Amino acid sequence: MKTNNKLIVMNWKCNPRSIAEARVLAVASDVRGVVVCPPSVFLCSVAQILKQASLGAQNGFWAEGAYTGEYSFGQLKSAGVKYAIIGHSERRLLFGENSQIISKKIASALAAGISPIVCIGEKKRTTVYTAIKAVVTELNNSFTGISKDNLGKIILAYEPIWAIGTGKNAPLDEVLPIISAMRKYMMDLSNKKIKIIYGGSVSPENVSSYAVSPFIDGVLVGGASANKQKSAAIIEKLHSLNF
Ligand code: PEP
Repeated sequence: MKTNNKLIVMNWKCNPRSIAEARVLAVASDVRGVVVCPPSVFLCSVAQILKQASLGAQNGFWAEGAYTGEYSFGQLKSAGVKYAIIGHSERRLLFGENSQIISKKIASALAAGISPIVCIGEKKRTTVYTAIKAVVTELNNSFTGISKDNLGKIILAYEPIWAIGTGKNAPLDEVLPIISAMRKYMMDLSNKKIKIIYGGSVSPENVSSYAVSPFIDGVLVGGASANKQKSAAIIEKLHSLNF
């Protein structure tokens, strides 16, 4: 059904409540090109269901051993995980993740053979120029100790924080110059063209506006992805547009 290599990343966040509901959601998103990111406790159950979609994690830790409550990228890999969201704004804001922690997680994910989906975005809605400055500063701080070769394996998610979970998605004409600046920054750093996706209140109603752009390599869907009808509608819309 899907012919290109764009990504539809479904970040369920801390949803749903039960394994039974997680299974139902997983079936609805089991389509090629989709990356299903359930809560870690459901990863193994969801892995058993997915035949077409890939498995993603919402987090990971850079070490193994005496770190109660954590799970490493190596352990995620052995559970079938192919992608990991790193540096999501909720992790930065609520769990104190800073650029140093994020760099360690990116390096560890790459070492385990997991593709990091690194979330970057400005806090407040502002001018495009100010947003670009904020995003480039964050990029500058995020890749300490990561080799040029490995930088080319990173996927970036441009996620303006003001758009996450607010129902106010960033319009395409604002998103494009920011993604273009991110792409130039990564090209200068790694000499590779990496994937850059958009996230922030993506819904069945607005997803088509991103799908039409050849400069956006995918979408990261949060709240809507934990709703069976909405996630199915988003996938259906994107496929009808050959996304
Ligand atoms: C997200 O969780 O990264 C996200 C973009 O959430 P939402 O789609 O709910 O804004």
